[in-house]
Amino acid sequence: MQVPPFSLSKQLLELRPELEEAVLSVLHSGHYIGGKEVSTFEESFASSVGVPYAVGCNSGTDALILALRALDIGPGDEVITCSFSFFATAEAISAVGAKPVFVDVSRDDYLINLYEVEKVITPASRCILPVHLFGCPVNMEHVIRLATKFNLKVIEDCAQACGTKWNGRPVGSWGDIGCFSFFPTKNLGAAGDGGAITTNDDLIAQRVRELAIHGMPRRYLHTNLGYNSRLDAIQAAILNVKLPCLNQWIKQRQVVADRYLDFLKDIPGIEMPDISIRTGMVHSWNQFVVKVNNINFQKSNTTIQSFWESFGDSNNPRDILKVKLSDQGINTIIYYPIPIHLQPAYDNLNHKEGDLPVTEQLCKEVLSLPIFPEITYEEQDHVISVLQSLFL
Ligand SMILES: *Cc1c(COP(=O)(O)O)cnc(C)c1O
Repeated sequence: MQVPPFSLSKQLLELRPELEEAVLSVLHSGHYIGGKEVSTFEESFASSVGVPYAVGCNSGTDALILALRALDIGPGDEVITCSFSFFATAEAISAVGAKPVFVDVSRDDYLINLYEVEKVITPASRCILPVHLFGCPVNMEHVIRLATKFNLKVIEDCAQACGTKWNGRPVGSWGDIGCFSFFPTKNLGAAGDGGAITTNDDLIAQRVRELAIHGMPRRYLHTNLGYNSRLDAIQAAILNVKLPCLNQWIKQRQVVADRYLDFLKDIPGIEMPDISIRTGMVHSWNQFVVKVNNINFQKSNTTIQSFWESFGDSNNPRDILKVKLSDQGINTIIYYPIPIHLQPAYDNLNHKEGDLPVTEQLCKEVLSLPIFPEITYEEQDHVISVLQSLFL
């Protein structure tokens, strides 16, 4: 049996008539930029996040860049974030000329360790940028307390956390700005790139809107150097079909996650994510990430040679397990194998191994098991029984 890490095929089959109608109606309308589909989506997305304003843009990366620019963050400013994330989190900070300042994450839930934040505050600190990684919410009350104490702005990276809540309130509604991605593998995926910012502040919404269209508050008057970053009408039409399904999809992801937590918890070689579920918390499980650090199984002599050549370390239990699973048709992904602070692109920050020990250790241990709303019990049972047979 083949189990993919992620698949859209069942969702596409279920929604096919509505999606085709939505796409064709935009195509035939001739209105491809802006228009009713975009404004409808912005309104319903804002209301799903519980804020008055959402502004669509071209990607989650652009949402982060637009958010930083809208808060006037740029050269000379420092933005505090984590290095255990997708590269775009830091890349956006650098793109506006600011400096990413990384703090370590906590090993249990993979999220920014808020107790480390105070240690890196300097007079140049302007903003804290927590990442709701894998769909798990950062403690936003703690973030807001820090931001108030040190007079920092808050931008939430919600790219993997559409539908996530902290204390009953959706992520993206807590900070000054929330940044979302509609990349196809995220919880709410378009048929291509797309993104949005959310905010409670009408001036911020207006600033993002202008920056996203060449810094142009009215036609051919340019008050800022901006970007060309819009959510396409066709993508908005697709998202209008999908948004009403989001809550159901998240419930399905939770069922899958609960089954993994249940059936894998006694396997000695793999460590479950330790999510302390609190009242009002909704984990949207964009990824189900375990830690593999214990070589309790026989080393394989049937390893796929090409795998070791392209990636991996034949002495790392996680990498060995990844190959063994793939031998049995189970395809897993490593989010993320190299921490951002040690990426060659950030040589200029002069980080060295050991700077962020938890982050660096996680990059050697994490493995994402197949999870998506439509994964069947049969497929998931295959993953579970192969893991059990390898370890027990
Ligand atoms: C996907 C992602 C982004 C970037 O979103 P794109 O739409 O791909 O530009 C930013 N941050 C995190 C944590 C992500 O997972």
